[in-house]
Amino acid sequence: MSEVTRTVIVRSAPLPRRTFRIFVELEGMYRNMVEQLVLYAVNNNKTKFTRLKAEKYREVRSLYPQLPSHYAYTACQDAAERAHSFLRMKKMGKARKPYPEVRNVSIWLDDHLWRAEGLTSISMATHKGRVRVSIELNKHYLRYVNRGWKLASEARVKLDRRDRRLVLYLTFRKEVSEYKPKGYVTVDVNENAEAVLIDGVVYLFETDLSRVTLGYYYRRKRVQERYDKVYGPGSRPARRVFRRLSNNERVLKREIRWKLATLIVREAAKRQAAIVLERLGREPANHMIERIKDPQLRHRIYQAAFKGMQRAIEEKAREYGVPVIYVNPSNTSKICPIHGAKILYGKDRHGVCSKGGETWHRDVAACYNLLLRALGGDGGPAPSRQRALIPVDGGPVPLGPTAAHEPAPIARGAWARWRSLGATSEHKLMRVST
Ligand SMILES: [Zn+2]
Repeated sequence: MSEVTRTVIVRSAPLPRRTFRIFVELEGMYRNMVEQLVLYAVNNNKTKFTRLKAEKYREVRSLYPQLPSHYAYTACQDAAERAHSFLRMKKMGKARKPYPEVRNVSIWLDDHLWRAEGLTSISMATHKGRVRVSIELNKHYLRYVNRGWKLASEARVKLDRRDRRLVLYLTFRKEVSEYKPKGYVTVDVNENAEAVLIDGVVYLFETDLSRVTLGYYYRRKRVQERYDKVYGPGSRPARRVFRRLSNNERVLKREIRWKLATLIVREAAKRQAAIVLERLGREPANHMIERIKDPQLRHRIYQAAFKGMQRAIEEKAREYGVPVIYVNPSNTSKICPIHGAKILYGKDRHGVCSKGGETWHRDVAACYNLLLRALGGDGGPAPSRQRALIPVDGGPVPLGPTAAHEPAPIARGAWARWRSLGATSEHKLMRVST
């Protein structure tokens, strides 16, 4: 049994000026409390909430006697966390200022300070009494409500001054237990695609993750050259463009990873199968990205394409109760899953088994070898022919020794619209896309 939490953002309806002013005042008081607490916490190295509360609660509480007392309490939690992360950054030499700035404030709420009133409104305790605010339902929010997630008592709220709205960050929780797997779905993560073995078919889902990383890298470089010529190095306009580009890059990558992870995990859950992943090393030692000289860029590609992809699958798997198994990744694409002999590769991703003479696509061989290692349970590098015939999901592993082992490639534009697999034929593809 494990607990999964997710944050969901909902917005209130636009508020009347008078009501919104109450929240602006509230935010001002809360910010002031947090500022004072953070200063004290950093000066005295008190980053534990309990210590900070023990020493400062009374004082900040008396600052604003008209405010519900629990704001002083949550301000202590907020400040302790800010102080903690600031001191950690400072230790790493990454803090730019001697004291942390309290720039963005979101007001932390606990069960005394807010409650949901039905689905469409909440009430918040303020210095002017309880204020009821109606919220705008969105798809995301309803999905969590309808799927048995529980709304947690802690929440955060930010003010959207331009639209006079509240932005609520709600926390949903769910208890999930892992099932006992009846089969395996193996996943071989590459820099630009992900090979997935489901029911004897290897699907090659294109992600283009390293292409996205490289694309943005070069765009940033071009921007830098152009702006440096005009404004000098490290100028403010250049930084602004950089920020926007980085943000776009992050959002796009996250969407790709999240969507594909959801697709794979759902298929595994449908079959009550475990997901088999390569055990990744700590360093980007992967031969596919070794040719990239810039270590920072190499690191970013590794993070996005390998680590990030795995992490997305792990997180989604936890939500669906899908077990995840890790196996030794060494030589997974170099050895024939049928004969245990070396596969000799030419220039592209196709190779020939040195014993049986059959052709292998690199990712297909990798997927089957991952499966064999999961079945063998030892994670060892030498699967035997015998193990290749162990039935999975009731049927034998379909490894014809003379067949060409080709994956079914699926472009990102196609799978990104899918809710489930099985839409691989032209006919179904068209139906899905219309
Ligand atoms: Zn072979």
